[in-house]
Amino acid sequence: MIKGSCLCGEVHYEFDGVIDEVAICHCDQCKRAQGTPFVTNAPVEEKRFSIVRGAGLLKTYFSSPNKKRVFCSACGSPFYSQRTDMPETVRLRLGTVTEGHIPEPSYEIFCESQSAWLSENLSRPRYGKNTPQATTDAVAESMSD
Ligand SMILES: [Zn+2]
Ligand SMILES: [Zn+2]
Repeated sequence: MIKGSCLCGEVHYEFDGVIDEVAICHCDQCKRAQGTPFVTNAPVEEKRFSIVRGAGLLKTYFSSPNKKRVFCSACGSPFYSQRTDMPETVRLRLGTVTEGHIPEPSYEIFCESQSAWLSENLSRPRYGKNTPQATTDAVAESMSD
């Protein structure tokens, strides 16, 4: 079981499952959405993810037509992104996790957008755009977190 909350503590969520994939994303959208040089997130099953408190405070912003970013309207903490064409998966922002096990990051994506001042760690797979599973640049763009 994974539990998490936002900075103001009004919104709480639970994920009744195991996190087995952690991505570091360097894309420009994530940087601005999170105010950080990269974001750490994990794909989790939407049906096992639930907002257990404060759902009324959640706000949604569509950073692209098919992808929304959901955050606390009171304090701005980002919780997850979700694609309209992949609604079964939410990409959880791991900085909001307060309880439960998170493994080491699995890989890094959108490395071509990495902030120049951030040193590179070459010990895990790094992809210029998205993982090889994304077949075209168009798909890779829409797959950004
Ligand atoms: Zn909050
Ligand atoms: Zn991203």
